[in-house]
Amino acid sequence: MAHTTEYTRGTSGQIVDIIAFMVFGVSLAVLLYRAIDGLINLGLTTGILIPLVSVPLSLLAADLLSGIVHYLADNYGDENTPLVGKRFCKPFREHHTNPKGITERGFIEANANTCIITLPLVILVTLLGPYEGLWSTFLAVFVAFVSVAVIMTNEFHKWAHLENPPAIAKILQRWGIILTPDNHDVHHVAPYDTYYCVTTGWLNALFDRLGILKVEVPGDHRDAEILHAATAREARELILKKMKEQSQTQGSEPL
Ligand SMILES: [Zn+2]
Ligand SMILES: [Zn+2]
Repeated sequence: MAHTTEYTRGTSGQIVDIIAFMVFGVSLAVLLYRAIDGLINLGLTTGILIPLVSVPLSLLAADLLSGIVHYLADNYGDENTPLVGKRFCKPFREHHTNPKGITERGFIEANANTCIITLPLVILVTLLGPYEGLWSTFLAVFVAFVSVAVIMTNEFHKWAHLENPPAIAKILQRWGIILTPDNHDVHHVAPYDTYYCVTTGWLNALFDRLGILKVEVPGDHRDAEILHAATAREARELILKKMKEQSQTQGSEPL
């Protein structure tokens, strides 16, 4: 789909986003060069095993990180919160009032925030190289993969909202490698209290069952007030207030 909207972060934000991607590209290239060098030195078997083990682990780590960031941005602060309000809280909140808006963002605009989040780690690990030995090479490969998975998170999230995603997205969704529309749909049902992981969605069902990254919202979730709440915490406060008012009314009724 063509990019149909104005760049929502303005010209200065656009410049920051482009610089972040350029620095990331250079850092990742150096990191990959050093990681591949380390893998070659470890020999054929270990050199193949490390990337094979790193891919699922990095997707799992990115899914966990996406859940934590999404949970915090949905439920804490607002667009006026210093440093993170405009960049992180605002887009997550707007996504709940206009879920399809994400599909109109170009690649850089949709994924610049995750690029900025992962940049310090990639630069640090790149500077720690060159790599020798099993664990340091594993660290380099893992960080390279996890940074790509984190940066692709909002793209996977965007694909889960597209009526007709790219062919590669359909294949990866069918194989359960990236977030599927069915998995993510659970998060877009009021009161938006669960299923915050948006890279692969692998952790969502487990976390929901265990109550991890979940806001407990009591009462009837079809309540009209909950349907108009922007976040799970707001829905929870509305319901608790209503329950308190009801109990006070019942308590003050004459016998
Ligand atoms: Zn959300
Ligand atoms: Zn969504």
